Amino acid sequence: MKKLILARNFLIFSTLITLTTLVTRIDSAAANEPTLKPVVRPVSRTLQLMNHEKNQGLAVEADLSSVDIDLSIGVSSQRALARAVVTFSVTEAGNPFFLLDAKIKSIVLDGSSVEINRVSAPGTDSTELVVLMRPLEPGTPHVAVVDYVIGSSHLDFSESGVNFQTQMRDTQIAWKSRRHYFECYGPTGYESDQYALTLHVALIGAYGRHRIFANGTVQETQEHAWTITFPSYFSSSSFYLHITDAPLAVVETHYAGLERDIPITVYSELKGRARKGAHALPELLEQYERNFGPYPHASFIAYLPFIMFGGMEHSGAAVTTLDALGHELLHSWFGRCVSPSDGRSGWIDEAVVSWVDRGLPRGVWPPNRDHVNLGGFSIFERFATKQAYRAGPRFIAELDGLLANSGGMLAALKDFYTLHRCEPITTEIFQAFLETRTGVSLDQEFKSYVMGQ
Ligand SMILES: [Zn+2]
Repeated sequence: MKKLILARNFLIFSTLITLTTLVTRIDSAAANEPTLKPVVRPVSRTLQLMNHEKNQGLAVEADLSSVDIDLSIGVSSQRALARAVVTFSVTEAGNPFFLLDAKIKSIVLDGSSVEINRVSAPGTDSTELVVLMRPLEPGTPHVAVVDYVIGSSHLDFSESGVNFQTQMRDTQIAWKSRRHYFECYGPTGYESDQYALTLHVALIGAYGRHRIFANGTVQETQEHAWTITFPSYFSSSSFYLHITDAPLAVVETHYAGLERDIPITVYSELKGRARKGAHALPELLEQYERNFGPYPHASFIAYLPFIMFGGMEHSGAAVTTLDALGHELLHSWFGRCVSPSDGRSGWIDEAVVSWVDRGLPRGVWPPNRDHVNLGGFSIFERFATKQAYRAGPRFIAELDGLLANSGGMLAALKDFYTLHRCEPITTEIFQAFLETRTGVSLDQEFKSYVMGQ
């Protein structure tokens, strides 16, 4: 569910004013009163639907509040049958859309069957919107019951059960398959859309002991069946679930966090690797809490597979190599807590985390190099560009140079995290925050080194 963005922006605005006063007092170099700009409201994603020159009305983004999914994974059929009950609203009148990359059998909207229209999201390579062809008005909640089938390409099976894992395949072995988030497993939205997911999973025809690892609250309802409840601040890239009968070494420990005790679970096919991961994590957690603020999630789970390239992060969970463990853990602050609204803001957390990986280098301000596009994409783009890993940390280093007299980027990021803890952000929000802190307009630099213009 999107929070009341307007109200929140007023809040940001007033907090920024407070920060500005502080900054100008501390940093006498910033003698000019900063020009405060109203924070830009994230663009609502709408699309005019046309069919053979015929106007079919407007498609508008569904704002999900809760999704409840029954998922039956058939071991012999090698597919999963699913029913999702989606509660949502629309912020403007139109045909609602969400994301679901599965074979849809039927959708019942507010009690009666509805036609769907699959539409390619403009300006993206692969994103497909599922539009429910019935115009709705804002103001009241709606319920869609979606029956669908998940094919074998998004499921993994073993001889006696499953090795099922929600995954973002881009960084996994399947290099050629396109990147995805939760839309392969259930109806979801853009990363700006936070909602409460409850997942009831049953394995049909499985035998032998299966283990479940998830970044939500797990309840075993019967043999081979579980209900997992995820926190309501999660969005499409947050959820982590792994059900497997593979033999795994599991090391459990904990870390006494600033706000609460953090249970840590590290598992791997290799016992030594799990032990090393569990050994490294408390020190990393302590370092990140000191630099950025309290760890925000209820626990941390790390899967260190036998074969792995790179890593992938979720909210309080990661699948990773030992080398990338620190990187993926830091995404639990930047990326999966302070989260990008979409692919236009996805560069921010990769830039921040990669800058920390590189040892917090300080660059020269203003930058003088080739322009680069990190965020100037379609409002329908969902994924960050690979440039975010290279040109992103460079820009953060240069900003660190700009902030050299006022605590640097590290102090700024700590305040930014505190301000936007576990809510979606945009490039505009990040720029406005930095302008308030520095007291200078960063329009030209963001235009050149973020928007590629
Ligand atoms: Zn990363």
